[in-house]
Amino acid sequence: MSDQKLPTRAEDFSEWYNQLVLRAELADYAPVRGCMIVRPYGWALWENITAALDSRFKATGHLNAAFPLLIPRSFIDKEKSHVAGFSPELAVVTHGGGEKLDEPLVIRPTSETIIGHAYAKWIQSYRDLPVLINQWNSVVRWELRTKLFLRTLEFFWQEGHTAHATLKEAEFETRQMLDIYTDFAVREAGVPVIPGRKSESERFAGADQTFSIEAMMGDGKALQAGTSHNLGQNFAKAFDIRYLDSTGVLQHCWTTSWGLSTRFVGAIIMVHGDDQALILPPRLAPFQLVIVPIFKTDEEKSSVLENAHRLRKELVDSGIRVKMDEREGMSPGFKFNDWEMRGVPLRLELGPKDVAKGSVVLARRDRPGKEGKAFVSQQGIGASVTQLLGEIQTSLYDRALEFRKSHTAEPADYAEFKKAVETGFAFAWWCGSAGCEATIKEETKATMRCIPLDQPGGSGKCVHCGKSAQEKGIFARAY
Ligand SMILES: [Zn+2]
Repeated sequence: MSDQKLPTRAEDFSEWYNQLVLRAELADYAPVRGCMIVRPYGWALWENITAALDSRFKATGHLNAAFPLLIPRSFIDKEKSHVAGFSPELAVVTHGGGEKLDEPLVIRPTSETIIGHAYAKWIQSYRDLPVLINQWNSVVRWELRTKLFLRTLEFFWQEGHTAHATLKEAEFETRQMLDIYTDFAVREAGVPVIPGRKSESERFAGADQTFSIEAMMGDGKALQAGTSHNLGQNFAKAFDIRYLDSTGVLQHCWTTSWGLSTRFVGAIIMVHGDDQALILPPRLAPFQLVIVPIFKTDEEKSSVLENAHRLRKELVDSGIRVKMDEREGMSPGFKFNDWEMRGVPLRLELGPKDVAKGSVVLARRDRPGKEGKAFVSQQGIGASVTQLLGEIQTSLYDRALEFRKSHTAEPADYAEFKKAVETGFAFAWWCGSAGCEATIKEETKATMRCIPLDQPGGSGKCVHCGKSAQEKGIFARAY
């Protein structure tokens, strides 16, 4: 790790992000442009994300499965808006085993088609429904402008795919999964999100309805952090997914899909990080606490380390994820900087004086300097740390919510709107016309992020054309 400081976020947010990802050892560039190597520290964070989501999926009746990476090209062509949406981003395999293939294969950009094909075989009767399947995998989309975690050619995610007997059940599923993403973002990641409906132009290719959670990053831009789609009967018709209902009539199923990806790691970085670097929410941090033993002489070393290991065991027994930094030949100051860079929520410093007094120093990553430091008794250390981690988790969420509120405007006219999207979100009346949406995008680079589920009620005038509007939308520049 180099000693050089990152650029501040105000100086260059994008470069701050790029350097942070590399220096916190979350990910690295790959030999193929646009691909990403996720390093162990970044993967450990992703594993905690997957665990928090997976338990929620299973608690609502879903099971995991694995579908193939390769999909016949003809499958993608079966659903007309799906093919229009994904064709420009497809990676196509034309040769295998040294021979040209009869039919080209695509590397999955998403798995609606191959799963639709399987569901058509598996579903015969209403008794087979609902089918509730998720898979953890990676997909490939040939993106031109890439950025680690936020947009890469190959990315990791989960994709849920369900089939139902009725539209009502599919609608329920779509909203249930949106709620799960919201709950995960807020409670596990400390990331405030706005759940809402996408406009028609921002919908998933092949969906009747797309919902998303939108988060504000530290530069005021939006990031779509998870999506849930009601696919209607579009894929059921394209792939002939049908069932015999209880009266013996053949019906098409109603399907949904929903996904959250490694982009979310980017959201955590950009929501919580400060000018020093990464700050991780305790519930997802690979290490919640790092112990840095401090000593000069051999005698001090043995008593400090002995004490440190005892504390480590006690903390681990209390269910805390602990890292002991026993690296030789590095000063404590260097280690402090290193773990601050990597965003570990709490640092426990232990020197000979602390050993003598039976106390430790706990330093909070979210409050740098003296303000975040406290002397804490070694007695009951597990409970003290657990409580402090809870406080940090809450405080990170509150801070992010406060930031979003102070960077969200409710513009009265288009001039105010233009100003608002320079620095944050505009929550504005919108007439619902795709024309207005497109002009706004062209003139301000702000897109319609979502129409929040939480609406003020009543009606107003479209911020762009002045016509009557029934709903307010969140507009912002986005990643
Ligand atoms: Zn309008």
